[in-house]
Amino acid sequence: MKLSQIRGQERAIEQLQKALLQQRIVHAYLFSGPPGVGKMRTARAFAQSILCLNIEGVDACQVCSSCLQFVSSNHAAFYDIEPDGTTIKIEQIRKLQKWLRYRPYVGQYRVVLLQKAELMQEPAANALLKVLEEPPNSTIFILVSNRGHGLLPTILSRCMPVYFNLLPDLVIADYLQEKGITNEKIPLFTLLARGCLLQAMELAEGGLPEGREKAIYILERITQMSERDIFAMADEWDKNKEGLTELFDYLALLLRDLLLLREGLTHMLINQDQNWGNMAYQSNQLLLAMDHVLEGRRNLESNASAKLIFEDLMIKLGKAMKS
Ligand SMILES: [Zn+2]
Repeated sequence: MKLSQIRGQERAIEQLQKALLQQRIVHAYLFSGPPGVGKMRTARAFAQSILCLNIEGVDACQVCSSCLQFVSSNHAAFYDIEPDGTTIKIEQIRKLQKWLRYRPYVGQYRVVLLQKAELMQEPAANALLKVLEEPPNSTIFILVSNRGHGLLPTILSRCMPVYFNLLPDLVIADYLQEKGITNEKIPLFTLLARGCLLQAMELAEGGLPEGREKAIYILERITQMSERDIFAMADEWDKNKEGLTELFDYLALLLRDLLLLREGLTHMLINQDQNWGNMAYQSNQLLLAMDHVLEGRRNLESNASAKLIFEDLMIKLGKAMKS
């Protein structure tokens, strides 16, 4: 991917483009921001631009020998470190030091990419610090981190920060469309992705979340459920407040959409797939149900047991929908 094609991170891209155009590339960058918003794609595109022998504006040409080597992950002046298991170990930094000493230059620059830099163990971080304190000539370090503050202050102080934000919904929606996700699922997936492309990709691959299926199941059957049915279901949520929070959020979303459907506002629906919307509840029932769900959602913040909160809400929902 070309640097100028990366969307939703305008501030970061502009900063890097300026550095390339003015040929003022500093020797170490720290890309930080939430996971799954394009830090690594940007880092690779930036590295490729730095190494390209025939750069066009700010974008790598994609056809020079450097670009071809880069794309086939076989570039002599590019060194990529990813965590070995759950940490980056000192041996990995030692290997890098060796490479820095002996690897000949091919073009003008060498680039070192350190993925998930926050996973460096302290000896590794100290070894890297030594490298950054006496940076080898024409070598650019790109550290990528999901948590900038997870790094040693001494390392932070030697890197130019580049901040990445959560992606705008529009960027996520476009991406899902490119991936061939059907239009009716895009609003829900976009909402669930919460600005994170990685999350959107997982949703696109994994289909609709389980919590939503359960919420539909409950709304479809709540008027026929006996207390015994409810108590049996409640066991599943015992000590699982996180799962229950998700379930309540889906209940609220579905109730919202059912209300919009009653008003004929179909274009505003978040759940646009049609396999759930034929429940025959009245607006007043839906409004009352929504109140109960939001109250249940608030109760989840308290110390009360998840199981009890679930039972309480289900009984109230049953009454509301029958009233
Ligand atoms: Zn090139």
